[in-house]
Amino acid sequence: MTEALLLVDIQNDFLPGGALAVADGDAVVPVANALMPAFEYVVASQDWHPPQHLSFAAEHPGRAPFEVIELDGYEQILWPAHCVQGQPGAGFASALDIAGIDHVVRKGMDRRLDSYSAFYDNHHRNATGLGAHLKARGIDHLVVLGLAADVCVKFTVLDALAEGFAVTLVRDGVRGVDMQPGDTEAAIEAMRAAGAVIADSATLAGAPR
Ligand SMILES: [Zn+2]
Repeated sequence: MTEALLLVDIQNDFLPGGALAVADGDAVVPVANALMPAFEYVVASQDWHPPQHLSFAAEHPGRAPFEVIELDGYEQILWPAHCVQGQPGAGFASALDIAGIDHVVRKGMDRRLDSYSAFYDNHHRNATGLGAHLKARGIDHLVVLGLAADVCVKFTVLDALAEGFAVTLVRDGVRGVDMQPGDTEAAIEAMRAAGAVIADSATLAGAPR
């Protein structure tokens, strides 16, 4: 198998102090930095929204973040404005070793369409190109970590499995939003049930490859 490391949305707005902070989200950064040297190919995704993205609660008068609305016939969770293209919040975590990243895939650029997965928008209308990019390089196994476990990591892993990639989820390399208590554990169980292997970074970093 040819492996790649996939870092999902390790961006300032998802870290403590950010617009859509994930509790303890900065804990994934040293895990990413420790794993990167063990991989020949490292890909990072970036949530990359236009300023008035319709996933932002502020675009819907009278609505608050974390409410659910119907948008174009689909349920849409409303989020605080986050990861606006070119803004500091959309940047990679400052402590992340970006020199170790070989390829960046951006998502969520269509104002009307959210994109939790690094492979497809939430309605599976458009591919980001990540799947074809990886397959063109002969990569068939993804080791995944990042933010948030119960949103973008989950949908990225489920799409990766559906695309035929083997997936290992780095358990200590993810943190979740937990809009409802237990969401993160449920997401990890859903990924495992779909075929992902759940592993700790210590075992991955120490393994010969
Ligand atoms: Zn977003």
